Amino acid sequence: MLRQRTIKSAISTKGVGLHSGRRVEITLRPAAPDTGIVFHRVDIQPPVDLPAQASLVGGTRMASVLQKDNVRVSTVEHLMSAIAGLGIDNLHIDITAEEVPIMDGSAGTFVYLLRSAGLQEQAVAKKFIRVLKTIEVSEGEGDDLKWARLEPYEGFALQFSIDFQHPAINATANFAEVDFAQDSYVKTIARARTFGFASEVEALRAAGLARGGSLDNAIVMDEYRVLNSDGLRYEDEFVKHKILDAIGDLYLIGHPLIARYVACKSGHGLNNQLARTLLAAQDSWEFVSFESAAEAPHAYTSEWKFA
Ligand SMILES: [Zn+2]
Repeated sequence: MLRQRTIKSAISTKGVGLHSGRRVEITLRPAAPDTGIVFHRVDIQPPVDLPAQASLVGGTRMASVLQKDNVRVSTVEHLMSAIAGLGIDNLHIDITAEEVPIMDGSAGTFVYLLRSAGLQEQAVAKKFIRVLKTIEVSEGEGDDLKWARLEPYEGFALQFSIDFQHPAINATANFAEVDFAQDSYVKTIARARTFGFASEVEALRAAGLARGGSLDNAIVMDEYRVLNSDGLRYEDEFVKHKILDAIGDLYLIGHPLIARYVACKSGHGLNNQLARTLLAAQDSWEFVSFESAAEAPHAYTSEWKFA
């Protein structure tokens, strides 16, 4: 049986929110089978629980934000991406402020933290969502057209195209493809950092965004080039980060996907729309579990998650 997974023991870390700039501590704790991923705002009395579900996403400007009444947990996508990448089904996340810490701007620190806590298999079958019919969402038209789709595929793969009018980004690949039957999440995706433009920092900060952003947690560019002295971590780090984001946003569907995701210039808003559209189209997907690992797609049984 392909089993659900949580972590062995609780583990904590501290950091600052990318947008709020606020200090925050998170504690990751094991959770029982079928719990899913649940954030707990423990700085509020009594604490408020926010399940990591697409239907609770209340904001998508520059980040994916979970919201219940007036209580928010912001910028969940990189942590969700690490959780998905390591195949974790059940986890409690205690958080002391409204934004997940940005750490180094990638999912790498969260992967390290989760692996340090140790992964624990559970006695209940893992539940996948298998996409049966293609679902597509889009926004804008002409040069501004953005789209994202999920299509039937017996595995888990993602293809992403970006189109930024910027020389430093155009100097790198604007298309990337990963297929977890052979690619390692940890090696090929997890370390890709978020990115931003120095020219936009002032306007973003005036709007309450990017207040914790710096060269320590983002790739920052001026009009022409990357300002980080160490350069890029991957040749195609920009498009790889968009894939990292998509993996986190899609995990808000609540289960690992058996599907291929293909997107052009998508972002958190469109990814959330895709997740909601899929869940609402009940004839387009089915729940599946696997009695033996041999029946499951290689993407979920190979060692890619840990390599
Ligand atoms: Zn991101």
